[in-house]
Amino acid sequence: MMKNISRFIFLTVVFFITASPAWAKIDVVASFSILGDMVEQVAGDRANVKTIVGPDADAHLYTPNTGDAVAVANADLVITNGMGFETWSATLIETSGTGAVIAVASDGIKPLLVEGRVDPHAWNSLTNGIVYVNNIQAALSAISPADAAIFKQNADAYRAKLTALHRRALADIAKIPTEKRVVVTAHDAFGYLASAYNLTFLAPQGIDTDAAPSARQLAELISFLKKTGAGALFVENIANRDMIAQISRETGIKISGRIYSDALSVKGSPASSYIAMFTHNLELLTTTLAASR
Ligand SMILES: [Zn+2]
Repeated sequence: MMKNISRFIFLTVVFFITASPAWAKIDVVASFSILGDMVEQVAGDRANVKTIVGPDADAHLYTPNTGDAVAVANADLVITNGMGFETWSATLIETSGTGAVIAVASDGIKPLLVEGRVDPHAWNSLTNGIVYVNNIQAALSAISPADAAIFKQNADAYRAKLTALHRRALADIAKIPTEKRVVVTAHDAFGYLASAYNLTFLAPQGIDTDAAPSARQLAELISFLKKTGAGALFVENIANRDMIAQISRETGIKISGRIYSDALSVKGSPASSYIAMFTHNLELLTTTLAASR
């Protein structure tokens, strides 16, 4: 009897050490919430996805903790935005000692330059979002070739939704007179959106959130807006609201709501997925700009 039990335990242990069962999932770490959602859409139930910088949080200013290092160390795949967005990710990956595959979601996208620096907010154009999906699909399929057909099916369905939303954005924004397409936000996160959909975004803060604008820069923007006006003024879910409140007070331009730039919102709120976030931003932009004088 004892011999049989020992034999059973031995075989069970051997099974768990040697077998790669069909239900084993890929452990993926995504650097921020928008990317985490994209990975979940492509991976479906074939991966456990951990997101480092969560909803409504600022990935520019993030400081990784021990839990992040453990997750990265144990991951099969670590995926970042790249383009200098996560200034903290290279150190985190190196110090974790991980053997994970490291993938960059923005690979292959032509970067926009702002004052000679790469603008990392490439996801704010849906055609770039589709490039992210392609890169995610390729990285997942390389790690688990047996699941490649599932990843392709999920990615195809997701790309179709993103393409439909892209066409809708082009059509909806085309209806707004060009002179009404001026939008003010706190930090410069919408360069790719502006370029893809022919909008103008002005922001007192640069492409990062760590540096505040000088009093002179802010005064110049306020004086410019007093002369020219703007179609819309928005607060962001991650950036400095006081600055937008000050611009509103001094220019008389009303704050028209909250736009989502670098992070999703929490589950159950209007921007809890990449598609929901883009749709929310598009609807808020087009209704506000259309109603502006
Ligand atoms: Zn940003």
